[in-house]
Amino acid sequence: PKSFAILTSGGDCSGMNPAVRAAVRYGIAKGCNVYGIYEGYQGLVDGGKYIRKMDWKSVRGWLSVGGTSIGTARCMAFKTREGRLSAAENLVKHGIDSLIVCGGDGSLTGADVFRSEWGSLIAELLSTDRITDQQAKTFSHLTIVGMVGSIDNDMASTDITIGAASCLHRVCEMVDSIGTTASSHSRAFVIEVMGRDCGWVAMMAAIATGADFVFIPEQPLAAGEWQEAICDVAHRHREMGKRKTVIIVAEGALDSSLNPVKSEDIKNILTERLGLDTRVTILGHIQRGGTPCAFDRILATTQSVAAVEAVLQSTPDMPSPFIGYVNNKVTSGPLMDAVALTHQVADAIHKKEFDRAMQLRDPQFRQ
Ligand code: ADP
Repeated sequence: PKSFAILTSGGDCSGMNPAVRAAVRYGIAKGCNVYGIYEGYQGLVDGGKYIRKMDWKSVRGWLSVGGTSIGTARCMAFKTREGRLSAAENLVKHGIDSLIVCGGDGSLTGADVFRSEWGSLIAELLSTDRITDQQAKTFSHLTIVGMVGSIDNDMASTDITIGAASCLHRVCEMVDSIGTTASSHSRAFVIEVMGRDCGWVAMMAAIATGADFVFIPEQPLAAGEWQEAICDVAHRHREMGKRKTVIIVAEGALDSSLNPVKSEDIKNILTERLGLDTRVTILGHIQRGGTPCAFDRILATTQSVAAVEAVLQSTPDMPSPFIGYVNNKVTSGPLMDAVALTHQVADAIHKKEFDRAMQLRDPQFRQ
């Protein structure tokens, strides 16, 4: 029977567990041996107890559990050839020739590197007697399937990443909670949300909660421009009887190389110019946690089924697939292209070419 493994890597998100669960169970239903690799790439490099055969019951109850129960890690060793050599050896020794990686753009970049070097890793393992001739022949090809687990929704080639919707739900609940106390005391709040270089969480949370203003990295305001803009809008809303002021700031907008906005500066402007009693709240890691929302359970499950199908259908001449979600459909395209495009988006944002970044990020634009 076919043997494949799944691992979760990089920053965790709600929905990784449903992804692992579906890959394990669909794989078993298709007659495969399915392995879970614990602690992300670190487990792959270390091998041994970190590579475990999964059975139907191993993933019982995981649909509604946040985070990733097989663990995740940032792994420096996997960035070195020595680490990847050891990872390749561990896969061969377990008879695994296909790997599903659920992680962010960093993890999928690593997957891409691993896949492109596979031939030379196998050659080196053979020449140093770490594997046999027969193993080198049997494992001459590695299939890697990438799925994106990320709260940031920052991957090109897909409309939405696993975990982004759950994170957004959590952020909305918290902004709503802050809103009630803000209204009671007639206060203003500056709320920092996650998202790395991507303003998706901030923008969607602002729409969903009716925030007064949002700062996102994709649309930076000039240093002298935003002060007036936020005061205008906050003042106008107050004149209309609103008892709270909520300003959402994306993590990426705090990055001084993009847009030197500081939450404390926003607070000071609102306090000094409008006399508003203003507080800064950093939502922090609460955003990453909690039970996956229904959409993420469905997205992760349907994408994992597609990932296992991709494993079963893969041939040595096919590029490694990337499982996406475009126009309400699960999609599959070359992983290398998705990774390259995501890096182009990040580069464009850092060069302040924002229109280009948005176009590159939008799968529908490119169709
Ligand atoms: P995310 O996947 O959430 O973007 P990271 O960027 O931290 O998170 O990447 C997760 C892991 O993927 C890293 O700790 C490292 O082990 C691996 N990785 C990232 N980039 C590379 C790379 N260029 N080469 C090899 N491995 C990489």
